[in-house]
Amino acid sequence: MFELPECVVLANQINETLKGKTIQRGSLGNSPHKFVWYNRSPDEFAKLTKGKKIGEAQAKGRWIFIPVDPGYTLVLGECGGKMHYHLPGSKLPKKYHLYITFEDNSFLTVTTQMWGAMELYPSGEEQNREYIKDMRPTPVDPEFTYAYFTELIDTLIAGKKRSAKGLLTQDQVIPGLGNAIAQDILFRSHLHPRHPIADLGKEERKVLYNAIVSTVGEVIDKGGRYDEFDLYGQPGGYVRLMDKNAVARPCPGCGGEIEKIQYLGGSCYVCPNCQN
Ligand SMILES: [Zn+2]
Repeated sequence: MFELPECVVLANQINETLKGKTIQRGSLGNSPHKFVWYNRSPDEFAKLTKGKKIGEAQAKGRWIFIPVDPGYTLVLGECGGKMHYHLPGSKLPKKYHLYITFEDNSFLTVTTQMWGAMELYPSGEEQNREYIKDMRPTPVDPEFTYAYFTELIDTLIAGKKRSAKGLLTQDQVIPGLGNAIAQDILFRSHLHPRHPIADLGKEERKVLYNAIVSTVGEVIDKGGRYDEFDLYGQPGGYVRLMDKNAVARPCPGCGGEIEKIQYLGGSCYVCPNCQN
């Protein structure tokens, strides 16, 4: 699944490469997939996109907004898999859930792994969509300050009990983070995934805030995670500290053994010595 850093990298690459291109034909998928969310019929999608120009793309959380000017915005959200740009004459992938050709004969395909939204809205209306409407600030937004973060924790602990992993991955409290990047953030904050956020003192909150902002920034700078692909089909350069490969390696902090646990809908890789 693409998380916030991959969406930022893809949006930047769309702006480098696709911005200004004119759409020759917009097609939806050739491979039935019940977890791809479309809001247009194939004919409608082709008609509404024909002759339109790609504008300046933007990422927010796990969503990418691509203006299809004039008048429309293509929304790609909660996707994983491959979002690839192809030079003229390239081979079309066997399966795809979105296929857009441009007047210069280059094309874009999107093939999602698990699920994902591929929707076209009259520009502005996408902001009313569930999960986009009322989205809280993400770690790359200027509003995501330490003051905002510590207030967010105060608000959350007044409600239900929540763990550090829950803060990072549940209910889109911090939009765009997922199970992958959360593990490195927790390791860098010396926090066990189960650590209750109600216990976090001022210093621990600061360390966690800094780990969120710096980890997201580093993954973006390195072009995404090493197990995801960018718009040009290249893997990202960010090697995760805590993932399935970490079990065979000594902990980068103390040299001890990394444990695998199941917690909150996914595997977690934890150093029981460094993370409490
Ligand atoms: Zn350790």
